[in-house]
Amino acid sequence: MDHNLSFENTEIAFRNSSNADLKRAFWLFKVINVNFLVKIGPPLTNFAVKIGLPVTGLIRATIFKHFCGGETIRQCENTIRGLSRGGVGTILDYSIEGEDNEQVFNSTCEEIIRTIKRAAKDKAIPITVFKVTGVARFSLLEKLDAGTVLTANEEQEWQKAQDRVLAICEKAYTTGVPVMIDAEESWIQNTIDRLALSMMERFNKEKAIVYNTCQLYRHDKLASLKNDYSVAEKNGFIMGVKLVRGAYMEKERSRAAEMGYPSPIQPDKQSTDRDYNAATNFCTDHVERIALVAGTHNDESCKLLAEQLDKKKIDHKNPHVYFSQLLGMSDNLSFNLADAQYNVAKYVPYGPIKAVLPYLFRRAQENTAISGQMSRELRLIVKELKRRSGNKG
Ligand SMILES: Cc1cc2nc3c(=O)[nH]c(=O)nc-3n(C[C@H](O)[C@H](O)[C@H](O)COP(=O)(O)OP(=O)(O)OC[C@H]3O[C@@H](n4cnc5c(N)ncnc54)[C@H](O)[C@@H]3O)c2cc1C
Repeated sequence: MDHNLSFENTEIAFRNSSNADLKRAFWLFKVINVNFLVKIGPPLTNFAVKIGLPVTGLIRATIFKHFCGGETIRQCENTIRGLSRGGVGTILDYSIEGEDNEQVFNSTCEEIIRTIKRAAKDKAIPITVFKVTGVARFSLLEKLDAGTVLTANEEQEWQKAQDRVLAICEKAYTTGVPVMIDAEESWIQNTIDRLALSMMERFNKEKAIVYNTCQLYRHDKLASLKNDYSVAEKNGFIMGVKLVRGAYMEKERSRAAEMGYPSPIQPDKQSTDRDYNAATNFCTDHVERIALVAGTHNDESCKLLAEQLDKKKIDHKNPHVYFSQLLGMSDNLSFNLADAQYNVAKYVPYGPIKAVLPYLFRRAQENTAISGQMSRELRLIVKELKRRSGNKG
């Protein structure tokens, strides 16, 4: 491995952040660190927004500013340039959630196509992304997954949803910009997987254009990753895959318990970690035919993948291997990896404030402290602030 690779170097991690940025982040993570506030925050905020209290200004200046690039692509330009100065790419993520009508699906589809157009011919935006539930109704996908027969109207609706996915992937193909399809809840994931695989068969003959996402917190997913690889090998296409642990664990477990089926989630964290690392190993073993994006904030997994690359003599800049984190989190990984010449790109979520609130609440929840400790982000910010004040004498 590159012996200089250290995720503790906060000088590199926060090179992009001014003192004012760091102080703002310090107070933000201080608040987020308080479990109680994070619990009451989402309902209070939703309520305040609903009754029209002027809270959006406060949200915009704090949590939104930290975790999002802006409300439009244009507003993300500063963030794109800032990341790029540190050698880190941007993945524009139009994060509108919880919408459920055809008009919104059409406009979301158009917006995703705009992110692909914006990415074309700009090295600062090497990959793009979308969620199938951004362009298709959740309960329709649920029906398809369960094998329920669709009504004639639903068949039409499904055709339109597939057309949107096709239009996005086609634009990715004609512009040569890779597009990732996010993974979601297990009770709609088979449908997403089938759709993603058919898009890969169609567009990944010469180059990895479409990427699916594999959630290794599911006990069956390492096997299905290997199975998809066999399909790619047999049918002569490149498999694109983003590897993540998975974001819906509580929801998955409680639904399984409520409905009385075995949970699809691994029995413990250790099993998830084991499969995650085995998956990066499998992908780097087959790097000719698999293009991989490691979407993780886990130090160990990033270290291990970096080691795997060096051991297997895979160039750091091989276009089939990317590390990826979310904006506002784990800059110690992103910028230190980029400094060691690995390919790195961060999700830069954007969209109207109200529509990205669920995303922001998830980030807050992820960063609360466990039993009174300082969260990982807060510890790094404090370390860098101390380093800077020490340097001033
Ligand atoms: C760039 C990027 C893209 C992403 N895209 C997606 C996506 O498309 N779909 C998606 O679902 N998520 C996605 N995520 C979120 C991701 O799945 C994780 O929730 C998040 O990154 C935390 O996991 P981690 O690998 O960073 O590391 P860690 O912090 O080490 O791991 C935490 C994760 O481990 C798992 N885990 C925790 N406790 C247990 C337990 N007791 N038993 C079993 N497993 C456990 C859970 O998945 C949990 O989220 C993405 C994350 C990133 C950085």
